[in-house]
Amino acid sequence: MNMNKTIILRKGKEESLGRFHPWIFSGAIHHTEGDEPLEEGDLVEVLSSNGRFLAIGHWQIGSIAVRVLTFRHQLIDQSFWQRRLAAALDVRRTIGVADSKDNSIYRLVHGEGDNLPGLVIDIYGTTAVMQAHSVGMHVCRDEVAKALKEVMGESLKAIYYKSETTLPFKAQLGQENGFLWGESTDDVACENGLAFHIDWLKGQKTGFFVDQRDNRSLVERYAKGRKVLNMFCYTGGFSVYALRGGAELVHSVDSSAKAVELVNANVQLNFPGDNRHEAFAEDAFKFMETAFAEGKETGNSKSSNGKWPYDLVILDPPAFAKHKDALRNALRGYTKLNAKAFEKIQPGGILFTFSCSQAVNKEQFRTAVFTAAAMARRKVRILHQLHQPADHPVNIYHPEGEYLKGLVLYVE
Ligand code: SAH
Repeated sequence: MNMNKTIILRKGKEESLGRFHPWIFSGAIHHTEGDEPLEEGDLVEVLSSNGRFLAIGHWQIGSIAVRVLTFRHQLIDQSFWQRRLAAALDVRRTIGVADSKDNSIYRLVHGEGDNLPGLVIDIYGTTAVMQAHSVGMHVCRDEVAKALKEVMGESLKAIYYKSETTLPFKAQLGQENGFLWGESTDDVACENGLAFHIDWLKGQKTGFFVDQRDNRSLVERYAKGRKVLNMFCYTGGFSVYALRGGAELVHSVDSSAKAVELVNANVQLNFPGDNRHEAFAEDAFKFMETAFAEGKETGNSKSSNGKWPYDLVILDPPAFAKHKDALRNALRGYTKLNAKAFEKIQPGGILFTFSCSQAVNKEQFRTAVFTAAAMARRKVRILHQLHQPADHPVNIYHPEGEYLKGLVLYVE
């Protein structure tokens, strides 16, 4: 590995590295040294202004210029990747999601949370879906795949690489999605004993929202006898859990027709012929406004007074703020969406509401939901405060890794 490329930081810019923060912003760099010019994805050694070794990481063009792999002087070789992946697997065994009889879906590597910035690996049965979010991880993909094979052993049959949309377009890497090793058409994996089709070829993210596993279980606990509305359902995870929990009726809504197909297939896989479920391809805001409005029925359900029948509502929208600049609009969006749910949900209803925007913090989200409750003039109690599950760990030195937050609310 070419390690003769060095980055020297400006004076005083080594402080965050002293606190093990794994990012170096471009503004912190004084100059670079090396026989050849830096290329995106290069491994670089990072030194302080007075020449002290600080870290080794991947360099690329952009505001986050270096993603740190180690704060020790060590080789980034095959054995390095193997040790890091083995450590990640150990954590998944500890929390009980790996090597489990009734669970074969979990996140093995969660970027900075596993000291592997720029890398995501999700396990779906015998297939691993690997995603690079940095050029450096893209450059190392074959080494990482080899280490992954070693670490997972017999339990793995294929590694699918899905980085077409997660790498900087400008780097012109010409990357294509495809199998790095093996091949598999077995797209069914299981989460807490429920089966799901995973569309790693065309689906969002790596094919499934692994991060809602624990929150889906909580929905199952509350679902008995309830009429459930699962907004932004995608593959229908929440819907399938609600059905197992004994819901009286479950309606799933997503603007994408493909998502509606997926949710129907997943319901069919677990509860064939179950007519408690129905899915609608419709815009969320429009559905919330018009479903059960005077004279309009939805599916097999009737509401004579023009009110929603739902007493368990899940709002899990896509990230409204992808960047800090979009924050104000995003908060307004969350308020508007939640206000509509508060306005319409049955008395005694339970609202599960989420935000997966990294740019929106817990307090801001809570304020947006609080504003919504006040607008709808409902009495609301917080029952649970939710977050991402343990296989999406947050590196304590990298609080930016905390992104998923949710509230479970009791609406009087
Ligand atoms: N709850 C899901 C994940 C949701 S991802 C799960 O547990 O897996 C967000 C989903 O919102 C996507 O499927 C997307 O198609 C859908 N979506 C985005 N904008 C929408 C809108 N305006 N109305 C309805 N659905 C929307």
